[in-house]
Amino acid sequence: MNLPESKCSCSTPPTERYDRQLPLFGRVGQQKLSDASVFIAGAGGLGSPVATYLAAAGVGKIVLLDCDIVDKTNLNRQFLHHEKDIGRQKAESGAEKLTALNPEIQVKSVCSKLTEENIEKLVGDCRIIVDALDNDKTRRILASFAIQTKRPYFHAAVSGFQGQFASFYPEDGPCYFCAFPEDEEGDDNEAEAEKPIFPIVGATAGIIGSMQANEIIKYITDAGKRQVGKLFIWDGLTDRFEIIEIEKETSCHCSSKTESK
Ligand SMILES: [Zn+2]
Repeated sequence: MNLPESKCSCSTPPTERYDRQLPLFGRVGQQKLSDASVFIAGAGGLGSPVATYLAAAGVGKIVLLDCDIVDKTNLNRQFLHHEKDIGRQKAESGAEKLTALNPEIQVKSVCSKLTEENIEKLVGDCRIIVDALDNDKTRRILASFAIQTKRPYFHAAVSGFQGQFASFYPEDGPCYFCAFPEDEEGDDNEAEAEKPIFPIVGATAGIIGSMQANEIIKYITDAGKRQVGKLFIWDGLTDRFEIIEIEKETSCHCSSKTESK
């Protein structure tokens, strides 16, 4: 794994909080989790499971971004937010729950809309980028930034009983735009327009967000096998996963726009 900020000193023994996962990762793996920094864009249906499991696993720094306010219609799936949080900023409500779950980690809330102008400042020194978004325009900004700055990018999206996720690594395999070329993604004004109301089952977001978290934990700890160049599509009505191979495109961002930062 290539996490520049990770320097495993293992000087501080992990607490008993992690006893049930230490047999899997060892102290070295737990220290890698503690040294990791993750930027999560979206504190909603996907952000709730992915942020919760990363916090519980001991990821040392989580930055949680969302510009929305908690609404009652969010509560069927966005379990970071409770009835009492209606009207609050999602990022603040979510960060509060993560800190309550694991006060041994650092959690920062960002109540801002992600733009090409502010993304570098908002992501800061987080080395891992998580897409828990609900619109493709912001997703493209996030994915493009990940490519430019050579950060791993964990994509997910859900609608109804369906969901998908894919992991993209700077040093290996295709990128998000190889799978979803920009000219096929439709209206650039999508995020500016009123958000469409799409049906969603909370459990579906939970399944996909949990798989995202699992891949991120594997990446950080070097456990198992990375799923490179694969788009996983889940159909909750038939309980089936379809796995689509993503080809690396020679004319893509990942081949022409990569730079070091
Ligand atoms: Zn690409």
